[in-house]
Amino acid sequence: MHSGFKADLILTHDAEGHQAGAAVPPIFQTSTFLFPDFDTLEGCYSGRDEADLYSRTGNPTVRVLENKLAQLENGEEAIAFSSGMAAISSSILGLLKSGDRIVCIRNAYSDAYRLFEILLPRFGIQTEYVDASELTGTCDILAGASMLFLESPTSFVFETLDLKNIAGVARNKGVVTLMDNSFASPILQNPIDAGIDLVVHSASKYLSGHSDVVAGCVIGSTGLIERIRETTVPLLGAKLSAMEASLILRGLRTLAVRVRAHTEAADWIARKLQSDNRIRKIHRPGVSAPLPETLSGAGGLFTLELEDAVDIRTFCDALQLIRLGVSWGGFESLALPAAIANRQDTGPNALNAFGVSKNAVRIFAGLEGASALLEDIQGALSAACVGMRVTEGALGG
Ligand SMILES: *Cc1c(COP(=O)(O)O)cnc(C)c1O
Repeated sequence: MHSGFKADLILTHDAEGHQAGAAVPPIFQTSTFLFPDFDTLEGCYSGRDEADLYSRTGNPTVRVLENKLAQLENGEEAIAFSSGMAAISSSILGLLKSGDRIVCIRNAYSDAYRLFEILLPRFGIQTEYVDASELTGTCDILAGASMLFLESPTSFVFETLDLKNIAGVARNKGVVTLMDNSFASPILQNPIDAGIDLVVHSASKYLSGHSDVVAGCVIGSTGLIERIRETTVPLLGAKLSAMEASLILRGLRTLAVRVRAHTEAADWIARKLQSDNRIRKIHRPGVSAPLPETLSGAGGLFTLELEDAVDIRTFCDALQLIRLGVSWGGFESLALPAAIANRQDTGPNALNAFGVSKNAVRIFAGLEGASALLEDIQGALSAACVGMRVTEGALGG
């Protein structure tokens, strides 16, 4: 992880060209834009002139954010959406049509999986699932597919992919690659550099970083982004608002330092817990498996697979500092039992397909301080497995 990562980009003022020398871009809290005469209105409406018409399709504050997101991921253009799921669904519906087929890695984000299983089949788009290990060589499953949907690390088990190789295989077969890079953030991984076509983020997580925004984005080449911008942006209408864009711009100023702090805390805690005999397995790249070449750190998340002797309900209820809840990427630590979060997922996306038991809990290490978080986890483990002899490693803190 580079400490000065894109500091110039993250810290630029972005208000240049706007009013009064403001250090931060103003929030253009307006639905519509006014025109002095027939010709300028017509020029904007017809697309002849570049000007904002209506905030469902474009807004100056949102555009500052979109430009910054494109640069952070080394893409040409970006579109900001009202949620990560809006970014995923609008991108797919903007590019695919009835009869097309998606290939998706197993264990994708739950609601992406439900989009593929519940909604897209109604429009004639089918999805097949593959293990990461199947995405090499001739990779017959990709023949005739329209899109390859990827996550690395993946949800809950944090499997990682050999992105360069997979992007090359997909490109040879003419398959568009769409990758959810939320878990890594642009600080730890830039999939476009590895040859991936489109990157999506849930900006509700690291990008905004303060648990007060739901937002998303897609980043890629001008050609692909324009196809999404012309169709599903105006027609599904899930564009981001200026107020939210401003909050994300504020979050981005500290993105590099936050992601570094979350990563260091989670690495430290996971290593300390490795020798604890109340934990069967820790899922975390860099601790339980090597970090792949494209990923410079694993971020703030890891999953603890508790031994059968640990009652997961008691463990969760005994946590004091770490609160129970979905999401992650904000300032505060969160725990989420895998069996609750994935209860609707069956078949290829079921956690037990990965050997994950119902005794697994995902932890997000927030900014409260690593030693306090470790103490909290150890205290909850002690409360939840009465009568089990604890090894020294566990007591060592
Ligand atoms: C949260 C999340 C999403 C969905 O984003 P929203 O902003 O909640 O719509 C997609 N992918 C991953 C990996 C996520 O964690």
